[in-house]
Amino acid sequence: MTQSTTTKKRIIFCDFDGTITVNDNIIAIIKHFNPEGWEDLAKRTISTELSIKEGVGALFRLLPTSMQEEVVSFGINNVRIREGFAEFLAYCREHHIDFYVTSGGIDFFVFPVLEPFDIARDHIYCNGSDFSGEHIEILWPHPCDGNCNNKCGMCKTTIMRQFPEGEYERIIIGDSVTDFEGAKLADVVYSRSHLTTKCRELGISHTEFDTFHDIIAAMNEERKFSS
Ligand SMILES: [Mg+2]
Ligand SMILES: [Zn+2]
Repeated sequence: MTQSTTTKKRIIFCDFDGTITVNDNIIAIIKHFNPEGWEDLAKRTISTELSIKEGVGALFRLLPTSMQEEVVSFGINNVRIREGFAEFLAYCREHHIDFYVTSGGIDFFVFPVLEPFDIARDHIYCNGSDFSGEHIEILWPHPCDGNCNNKCGMCKTTIMRQFPEGEYERIIIGDSVTDFEGAKLADVVYSRSHLTTKCRELGISHTEFDTFHDIIAAMNEERKFSS
């Protein structure tokens, strides 16, 4: 093993919706409250006619802030955590792997859902929300840097670039097309669902997972081979 790989710090960038959680929360919230016009906006976002930022912003703008309590409580209570997540966090602590959440989700459900897992707040990147006007306004504190023009909203590659490849072994865990640009930058990819399909199509090396136990097992395998 070369000097540079032994000294690189392992760092994980983990998606939230459909990765830490079993379900996709933004669509679940909008679907549940079913405001007029959401389907058309969702379609135009999925087809990439609208950027994620434009689409998600417009979808939440359909919901009046008078429904704040219902929206927040549905957003939190609808979530189911993927199996093995707590064990995986413990594994990362034990092996000194930095763990970051890079989520396109919204603060009002991301932070409360992650609360029991004791992840430092500055290790969680997600979008914000403002309930002070008539309609829910999504805030974007982590926009794309000069290297990305996808209008991601929460830009995963911008965050990853803050941890240079010379110093870090960058590991990404995700499930969807919005994780793909990050997967291209990463040294190691753990994928499920659409991200697996996309990695296969474009020949990006990846390890499939279903639960976080699968990722622990794969990481242990890796250690066996490298020691
Ligand atoms: Mg996802
Ligand atoms: Zn971006």
